Amino acid sequence: MAEVCMYCQADDERRLKLMTRIADLKVSTLHFYREQSYPGRCVLVYHKHIQKLTDLTPEEHATFFADVAYAARVLTELYHPDKINYLVLGDLCPHLHIHLVPKYQGGTDWGGIFQMMPEPQKYLTDEKEAEEIQKIRKKLEELSYGF
Ligand SMILES: [Zn+2]
Repeated sequence: MAEVCMYCQADDERRLKLMTRIADLKVSTLHFYREQSYPGRCVLVYHKHIQKLTDLTPEEHATFFADVAYAARVLTELYHPDKINYLVLGDLCPHLHIHLVPKYQGGTDWGGIFQMMPEPQKYLTDEKEAEEIQKIRKKLEELSYGF
């Protein structure tokens, strides 16, 4: 039986354990990554089940990266990271998505390599996570694609 894609199922339990939906952008959906060792970490998931960046047309590619830049701007204004890692891996789930991982001087893996699930894992309370998501939604409304 073919593996069901966790990004194509609205209520996929694996995805809901990992991340919480924030908002739809033009061609992707922004999710808050529940493990928050890198404060503000999010995942941007392309709406359609596209497997590779090279499967996008130049126009789709440009629109997707406008979503990436918009989301990164929002995270920068809210969390003030010293840099952001952008990861396109797709080893476990071959549906185009980008991990947006804010990094902070003195914080988790500063000057080192990103870890998918660093130890010890750090989760916010449901209440705190909902607050962070509301802050991100508000900032998405404040900013536009032109920033
Ligand atoms: Zn999919």
